[in-house]
Amino acid sequence: MATYTAPVDDIAFLLTRVFDFDATMAGLPGFEEVNAELAVSVLEEAGKFAAGVLEPLNRSGDEEGCTLENGLVTTPKGVAEAYRAFAEAGWCSLSGDPEYGGQGLPRVLQILLDEMLSSANLSFGLFPGLTRGAVEAIGHHASAELKATYLPKMISGEWTGAMALTEASAGTDLGLLNTRAVPNGDGSYAITGTKIFISSGDQDFGGNVIHLVLARLPDAPKGVKGISLFLAPKFLVHEDGSLGARNGVNVGALEHKMGIHAQPTCVMNYDGATGWLVGEPGRGLNAMFTMMNAERLFVGIQGLGIAEAANQKAVAYARERLQGHGADGTPGPVAIINHPDVRKMLLTGRAFADAARALAVWTALQMDIADRHPDATVRREADALVALLTPVVKAAFTDFGFETAVASQQVLGGHGYIREWGMEQYVRDARIAQIYEGTNGVQALDLVGRKLGLEGGKLPQRFFALIKADLDAALPAAGAALVTPVAEALARLEGATARLAANGGAIEAGAAATDYLRLFALVALGWMWVRMAAAATGEAATPVLQRKAVLARFFVERMLPQTLGLDAALAHGAPSLMALHADAF
Ligand SMILES: Cc1cc2nc3c(=O)[nH]c(=O)nc-3n(C[C@H](O)[C@H](O)[C@H](O)COP(=O)(O)OP(=O)(O)OC[C@H]3O[C@@H](n4cnc5c(N)ncnc54)[C@H](O)[C@@H]3O)c2cc1C
Repeated sequence: MATYTAPVDDIAFLLTRVFDFDATMAGLPGFEEVNAELAVSVLEEAGKFAAGVLEPLNRSGDEEGCTLENGLVTTPKGVAEAYRAFAEAGWCSLSGDPEYGGQGLPRVLQILLDEMLSSANLSFGLFPGLTRGAVEAIGHHASAELKATYLPKMISGEWTGAMALTEASAGTDLGLLNTRAVPNGDGSYAITGTKIFISSGDQDFGGNVIHLVLARLPDAPKGVKGISLFLAPKFLVHEDGSLGARNGVNVGALEHKMGIHAQPTCVMNYDGATGWLVGEPGRGLNAMFTMMNAERLFVGIQGLGIAEAANQKAVAYARERLQGHGADGTPGPVAIINHPDVRKMLLTGRAFADAARALAVWTALQMDIADRHPDATVRREADALVALLTPVVKAAFTDFGFETAVASQQVLGGHGYIREWGMEQYVRDARIAQIYEGTNGVQALDLVGRKLGLEGGKLPQRFFALIKADLDAALPAAGAALVTPVAEALARLEGATARLAANGGAIEAGAAATDYLRLFALVALGWMWVRMAAAATGEAATPVLQRKAVLARFFVERMLPQTLGLDAALAHGAPSLMALHADAF
């Protein structure tokens, strides 16, 4: 059975030929010593860990699942040891703040490590992924004391993190949440309430579990303005940093779910749990958004990771599986990879994954620029681009990721449906990424309702101008056959954006959102294909470069035309969506 291989060659191609990683890093204070050679060697090691330690636990973890006994979670065999080895090898602290013991490496490396974790073992990747999100929120919003107590051990991976927003009656609409926080009079609060669906709510790796909990203060107004954020650890922490008594942070049950069985998704009871305010009272959602934005990109990368792993397995199978005559008359049985329809499924997954990785690297570079560039204007502009791209990466990558998992399963025929090959697990595991961290529908609303309006509505134009400049620059190397269709798709996107701005109104925006986001994503992926195709021409073509040229053509000819249909659907607006009375469905 084929095993996962980390796409290190592709990463090297992106960092050296598509993006001038070394030059960007050289301009960012603190990253002067970082270059593509270092990044690739670090990621090569990460790939070995992912393939050698984490992937072998993927299926056994799925089959065994987590258990809860006497209020304690047990993760599947091997997971706790793998987590400790992961933390000891320094992978948890890769991009962590050096002030608290992190290695301070760029986000680009982090995002590529995240992809490998998601390919090898999605359930496992959530532990460090959520911890990192919690670290971001604490780092940005908590007091110096909380930071000093919690960040070093969370960054090193000794302690893990969880985010506790969702309640039975408060999902997308967090303004409905009921969990309460009452001041204890000593600066701490007593938190009481029940949260559901809490990923990494507990673990058996040792150490502590740090919950970031949204709750209401006694005098808080209704709605989102009355929500505050609290840090509540599983174990209280002594002044010297050692673990003290158990806090009232209790696992009520484990959720039974479709996939990610090795991940303990918990019902959490906060039974007068001692917690501390993070950020200002009533500004909890704002503080939590620091965590959620980090997590949204991470979840998008999960879609890419699953697509990469599923596609690799499907290609390996399609090379071996003999069925039928060749379409060109070759007598059979031939390997199914020769059948045009099988090729289409494999190429669709590959054309998505390669372009998505490129777009992820571009986005992470903007994050690094936003963190460190000496010029405040450049930092602000990069930050806005990340904000624009965050819902696109989250929703489009997880939608395409799920579609790739299903198509890869289809390549295996009936063998994809039975457990042995692991394809049905990819389908089950990929599905959650479209739902959690804000459903993909909600991401699309974020894009049309909030992000398009940033910079006084000028942000999308700034992004589109950037694409146009790249298309012009790539034309001589990539050729008109590739560049013109992407430019035309961009014009469609600009037209749809202008219509949305002109028609306004929440109903039109809501009716357009999902199709608009996919149109946006296809243009962004097409942009990446043009950049990759341009970078792949020139010198003697290696197999990686040859493959890029063919994949770019496939994307432009067979995937990009979806933009025509999306544009046509968008042009009709909301009326047909809203015409039927709710009783008439
Ligand atoms: C396995 C798993 C792990 C999770 N991990 C965590 C975690 O660690 N921490 C945490 O706090 N939560 C977690 N969640 C919760 C998850 O984030 C929510 O389930 C998700 O945000 C959707 O909320 P909901 O389930 O209440 O759906 P609802 O909010 O009820 O939404 C139902 C449907 O209505 C749509 N909808 C809702 N409101 C609107 C609107 N205003 N406009 C348009 N469409 C709308 C949604 O898009 C969706 O299609 C997890 C969930 C699962 C299943």
